[in-house]
Amino acid sequence: MQVVGHFINGEMVADTQRVQDVYNPATGEVVRQVALASKTTVEEAISAAQAAFPGWRNTPPQKRARVMFRFKQLLEENSDKICAALTNEHGKVLDDAAGELIRGIEVVEYACGAPTLLKGEHSKNVGPAIDSWSEFQPLGVVAGITPFNFPAMVPMWMFPMAIACGNTFILKPSERDPSAPLLIGQLLKEAGLPDGVFNIVNGDKLAVDTILEDSRVQAVSFVGSTPIAEYIYATGTANGKRVQALGGAKNHAIIMPDADMDNAVNALMGAAYGSCGERCMAISVAVCVGDAAADELVAKLKPQVEALKVGNGTDISNEMGPLITAAAQERVRSLVAQGVEQGAELVVDGSALVVDGHENGFFVGGCLFDKVTKDMVVYQEEIFGPVLCVVRVDTMQEAMQLIDDHEFGNGTCIFTRDGEAARYFSDNIKVGMVGINVPLPVPVAYHSFGGWKRSLFGDLGAHGPDAIRFYTRRKTVTQRWPSSGVRDGKQFAFPS
Ligand code: NAD
Repeated sequence: MQVVGHFINGEMVADTQRVQDVYNPATGEVVRQVALASKTTVEEAISAAQAAFPGWRNTPPQKRARVMFRFKQLLEENSDKICAALTNEHGKVLDDAAGELIRGIEVVEYACGAPTLLKGEHSKNVGPAIDSWSEFQPLGVVAGITPFNFPAMVPMWMFPMAIACGNTFILKPSERDPSAPLLIGQLLKEAGLPDGVFNIVNGDKLAVDTILEDSRVQAVSFVGSTPIAEYIYATGTANGKRVQALGGAKNHAIIMPDADMDNAVNALMGAAYGSCGERCMAISVAVCVGDAAADELVAKLKPQVEALKVGNGTDISNEMGPLITAAAQERVRSLVAQGVEQGAELVVDGSALVVDGHENGFFVGGCLFDKVTKDMVVYQEEIFGPVLCVVRVDTMQEAMQLIDDHEFGNGTCIFTRDGEAARYFSDNIKVGMVGINVPLPVPVAYHSFGGWKRSLFGDLGAHGPDAIRFYTRRKTVTQRWPSSGVRDGKQFAFPS
């Protein structure tokens, strides 16, 4: 059986003493295995990145950007291969995989602007014949630890910007779908990136802990579930590293009584059930203001959820693929059962769905709950499956309070025709990414991505201007030359 290894210093490295099965979630079959790196292998990758840093740091930004231009082109040329790997190991339907890849490529495009983005700040004559400037220097070796649900896009939120800024990088992708990140890493080499600048170690907690403990790693970007995000942030910062750790989500959509209901229904179908609900920006709660809005929404959603085309992601007529693992399938089923036990009304129950010809696949059909209340587990937990919960409230204030009280604050949106209500909502809601009649307000590459509350630990988000700040350190230089003719006497007071 093929074992996916590591990519260190421009070469494939085996280290296959410990391995884990990788499944095709649509068939339930083990398609390959992934090597779980030992401490020594991770340290080897860090050493390679450390050795490559001085040369890469001193490579002019425009030359670093040229690698990114070539990389973008190679990603486009190889997109079919990458998308096939995404669907094979993650399960998402092929056009969803293509959308993910394009979002990643957009960050590469942004990284091509590194020479401009890295321009510093200059002030002339801050004192007699004294000039001062601030420049943005790379940190050194930085690492990225990424989740299973966007095996191509989320790593590309990180490394193109980190590398364009002059850092060297270690990626620890999800062990559940390791093939797409590896393909992408190899394309970077083909694009002309010097060996050692980008490295991949596959692995589990051991690899992550080695990264967190090694003093040569200057910064860590993490995306994944909140308990692990919190752990990474606490451990990484305790070890003196700069850390950004993006966590889980429970994204609410408010449906106002004046909303264009057909538009809201279409938007919710994609946002709740696309990628089988395995998106950190998925809408998992629809908060309807007034019973009339709720009745209409549920009546319109029900037939559409029942009609969802679920199957192998390789068949492009399917709208939804499987969940990632049998454990995820079991967990979603059990949460649906808990919702029923706690009194929510299960309007559509896809939990027992079996797909013909794919009986062992990790499928769950679309589920729709009505009359969910905030004390229920299905409301509180991130389900990360194709389950939409409708909550009924009387006022917009009540809807906003519900969102503000939730532990997560990643994304949210409002469906309304009332500009004033929308403006009030976006201005006051305690959530990092807000949509107005836009269900998945995922910021474009040249803005930054990040939630509030327990959806982000750290101060800076992914890509956009935050990435430049995260992957660089400001240094401010103050300069005067003897030839300026200015001479100071001894001065013991603070210079002013
Ligand atoms: P996860 O937290 O289980 O895993 C993420 C990464 O952490 C993986 O690389 C994994 O190997 C590693 N990891 C797992 N357990 C660990 C441990 N005990 N110690 C050290 N490292 C460990 O997340 P997942 O299941 O792969 O991804 C789904 C989660 O990611 C969801 O909660 C989703 O909301 C979140 N997510 C968030 C965003 C965002 O931008 N906020 C984006 C995508 C996914």
